[in-house]
Amino acid sequence: MSLTFGANERILVIGLGRSGVASADVLCARGATVYATDEKPASALVDVRAQIERYGARFVAPDELSALAPQLSAAVLSPGVPLTSHVVRCVQAADVPVLSEVEVAYRLCRAPIIAVTGTKGKSTTTELIGHLLRSCGKDVRVGGNIGSPLIAQVQGIEADGYVVAEVSSFQLETIRAFRPLVSVILNVTPDHLDRYPSMEEYAEAKMRIFANQGVHDMFVGDLDDPLLAALHWRAGTPRLQARQLWYTLGEHHQSATMFLRGGEIIYAPITGDPRPQTVLARSEIPLVGEHNLRNTMAALLAALALGCDRESLRAAVATFRPPAHRLQPVAEIDGVLYVDDSKATNPDAVLAALRSYRRPIVLIAGGRAKGTAFNELGAAIDARAKAVVLLGEASDEIASTITRTPIVRAATMPEAVSRARELANPGDVVLLSPACASFDLFTSAEDRGEQFAAAVRNGEARAHA
Ligand code: ADP
Repeated sequence: MSLTFGANERILVIGLGRSGVASADVLCARGATVYATDEKPASALVDVRAQIERYGARFVAPDELSALAPQLSAAVLSPGVPLTSHVVRCVQAADVPVLSEVEVAYRLCRAPIIAVTGTKGKSTTTELIGHLLRSCGKDVRVGGNIGSPLIAQVQGIEADGYVVAEVSSFQLETIRAFRPLVSVILNVTPDHLDRYPSMEEYAEAKMRIFANQGVHDMFVGDLDDPLLAALHWRAGTPRLQARQLWYTLGEHHQSATMFLRGGEIIYAPITGDPRPQTVLARSEIPLVGEHNLRNTMAALLAALALGCDRESLRAAVATFRPPAHRLQPVAEIDGVLYVDDSKATNPDAVLAALRSYRRPIVLIAGGRAKGTAFNELGAAIDARAKAVVLLGEASDEIASTITRTPIVRAATMPEAVSRARELANPGDVVLLSPACASFDLFTSAEDRGEQFAAAVRNGEARAHA
């Protein structure tokens, strides 16, 4: 019997983070009998328990689950909870289907979904697609890994609107029927190798995004990414059935639907008039760096595939502002530009950031490593940074890959900013782009970026007092 997530069904929500709380809210509103569980200590759950109980859900302690499990219709899993956890095993032992929050959101959503994944660029591209579709007059919701959970966004949207969803490889691991109308994979580069046994398995998880797509759906991908381009040559196999829309910074017209020519972004439609058309000039994109050019091409292809017109898209790109903590200019003080790129949590994002500026760079990097190698980063720092300030657990590991660039150590963010300020001359950039997770010294990447911005402003106040 297929699930309706409504009356007569008993649903267990596993994990009471933001996605679990949103799931409890939506499922209670649909009339289901909702239970929720979490393995955190009871003292850490007081507020969240009160909140879900207000919605009408009942909290169940993990050790009471085996009695409840046989009565459940389904369980909804929050992205932070591993499939190997005790509660998941307990529910599975009673043959209860365990579905991810993204899967449930998909089943409840009336509008087509545009799903975006990739190692880096997801949030920027997801926001940009939302912005582009809105500018073309569509009703659009944006959610998933970014902003609010997907399940909260799909409520109330009609079939003629769109939902743009940022989905991580972790969320894709547990999808079953999830089938976006447009799937986008931006890139597959090393990250999260502490959670995946190999790059192949990490790439496999990302490629699940198109596993359920059919010939009437669309796939957007970067033809310059070797792992993705390999898919192109496997066209027609059962793996990738969707219509393929590739973009490239080169001029491979035959394989690419979007490419660059003489500083202009060119679109070669796959239906209708096939003559290449200029969409906009590269110089009209307000985001810095080649990686953002790629993100913009991915977003444009998705919007064009959904019928947006080139003129509206051109105007909309010009008014887009990047989400916070992604190469975000914080201040220009005494001729030095301070940039917050705290969301650069893997080496590849830092390579992209280092390539984005022509002016000399004082880099602030470091944090908690995620099993990725830093060799390429060390070489890029030697090639592009005039100095580096290292902060956090991975400092020694990063330092060992740098051969030429002067290295300074700092214990706190204010100290890192003040060392960087001493090293910078007018015309330079002080770039926070850590290549690591933030959990050694900060509560999140956002917290790290905010502490950077605060230290920059405090330093300015002191210098000019
Ligand atoms: P995600 O949501 O995938 O983490 P974001 O859009 O939040 O990606 O960007 C995170 C970081 O990655 C930022 O530092 C940004 O400058 C960098 N970045 C964005 N797009 C790309 C890309 N296509 N390739 C490499 N790095 C990127």
